[in-house]
Amino acid sequence: MTTVPERAPCWLAQMNETIHARSSVESTANEPDPIDRDGLRDRFWERVPLEGLSQKEWEALCDGCGRCCLNKLEDADSGEIAYTRIACRLLDDEACRCSQYDIRKQLVPDCVVLTPSNISEVAHWMPRTCAYRLIWEGKSLFDWHPLISGTPETVHESGISVRGWTVPEWEVGPEDWEEHVINDS
Ligand code: SF4
Ligand code: SF4
Repeated sequence: MTTVPERAPCWLAQMNETIHARSSVESTANEPDPIDRDGLRDRFWERVPLEGLSQKEWEALCDGCGRCCLNKLEDADSGEIAYTRIACRLLDDEACRCSQYDIRKQLVPDCVVLTPSNISEVAHWMPRTCAYRLIWEGKSLFDWHPLISGTPETVHESGISVRGWTVPEWEVGPEDWEEHVINDS
């Protein structure tokens, strides 16, 4: 397979180019949800189009899985995207969060910020389980999504998050990424 390394899009989606600094979070079982999901419209994701979401609702749609911070390979002929377990150097794979979110574009210039405006261009290479991709495709959220389950722990318990199984990109050269392809399903 002829492959071209691709950078993951920013996993913490951002609306209207407004900066939302989020600190890295130490993860322990049953810790509070690091994403504020209080005071949202009832099941807004089923009733309001993405471009009509408030900024808080947009942020709350993120499941906190960290999968979009995994590096990918693109087949140069078919355009097919394959995910690897190789993670962006800024990913904290215990917290499943960007360790330098507020300055990530300075440190990783090709990190893509997801917005309602660009989702049509990037959805095809977002993880299949990504809440933004699911909603954009007219699908339902999974039961493990914190908005459904009421707890951020379910994304880890279900095995969807990247917690504890990534390899930092400084340990593996792009020429060897193909050996680390995972099944994104
Ligand atoms: S839902 Fe998961 S894949 Fe989608 S933006 Fe959030 S962390 Fe990334
Ligand atoms: S810079 Fe941060 S948000 Fe962007 S891909 Fe890397 S870890 Fe993810």
